[in-house]
Amino acid sequence: MKKLVFVGLFLFQFTALTAQDQNSPNIILMIGDGMGLSQITAGMYSIGNTTALEEFETIGLAKTHAHEQFVTDSAASGTAIACGEKTYNGVLGIDPKNQYLESILEYSQTQGYLTALLATSSIVHATPAAFYANVDSRKKYQDIALQLSESNVDYFIGGGRKHFVTRDDKRNLVKEMSAYEMVNTLNKFEKSQSKKIGFFTDDDEPKRLSEGRYPDLDKLVVATLDKLATRKKPFFMMVEGSQIDWGGHANELNYVLSEFEEFNNAIAAAVAFAKKQGNTIVIVTADHETGGLSLLKGDVARNTVSGRFSTEGHTAAMVPVFAFGPGASSFSGIYENTSIFKKMKVLVQ
Ligand code: MG
Ligand code: ZN
Repeated sequence: MKKLVFVGLFLFQFTALTAQDQNSPNIILMIGDGMGLSQITAGMYSIGNTTALEEFETIGLAKTHAHEQFVTDSAASGTAIACGEKTYNGVLGIDPKNQYLESILEYSQTQGYLTALLATSSIVHATPAAFYANVDSRKKYQDIALQLSESNVDYFIGGGRKHFVTRDDKRNLVKEMSAYEMVNTLNKFEKSQSKKIGFFTDDDEPKRLSEGRYPDLDKLVVATLDKLATRKKPFFMMVEGSQIDWGGHANELNYVLSEFEEFNNAIAAAVAFAKKQGNTIVIVTADHETGGLSLLKGDVARNTVSGRFSTEGHTAAMVPVFAFGPGASSFSGIYENTSIFKKMKVLVQ
């Protein structure tokens, strides 16, 4: 009899655990847009034959094809990663049957998670938008901006302010987002005590790093993690190295390399946080490869590498998935990119 009571108490305690408890892991999902193995390899040699990715315990491979399309765009692959369904190229958060999808960011909010989105593109660009928007065209930036304004994301950093304030419907979404403190420098972001902060890094698309984009992504990651760590809730954060893809489209290896180096620094910052804080999983992947990059020459001692692009578009090559922290082992193997959503969802539950 005593034994039964004990078991009953144990079960009660077990089921009473919710996501609000410290046990639910923080999730830092990092997407290098267009960052295939060649981009990682070139980036690694260019910075001294080492990368923060070597810290990761688990490596998998994700298949990137879209619904009925062999080569994906960033909207369909963003939707696959964020929402767990393959869809048509160009579409965000809507499946091929026209059903609206719930993203991992939205699901984690229902489980008591705080959320953050960081990108080196505009915040309404396809990859970050896949985490909060449901729209039939990635180009409907004003619709996407409206959906971000209603998304309840706690911290967001990226370009694209003009889509919030210079609008066909004459609305000023920055004014309407009264729950948010809007800042325009890293210093103001760091000093803000607000529970919701928006940081527009550019009115339009941010510049290349090599042309003076500021602040560096790793600094933004550290500043956001500092804020999240002081709150008593688990968090989901998505960080995008957006312009690795743009370097691929431009067929400019130097552009790819500098954007990779910044993203690599951001990965190092996230891993350092995960080691210090504990109970944090860092997942690094790409939405697809861009440029069909072949690496044909290089000098390891001189940190040089050269190669040739085979397309100005994307390719269908599988992309690596790196995982570090609690639950990381579930990311080993070969699977569809939609499984990244499913594996994250298991961690949030
Ligand atoms: Mg992107
Ligand atoms: Zn692209």
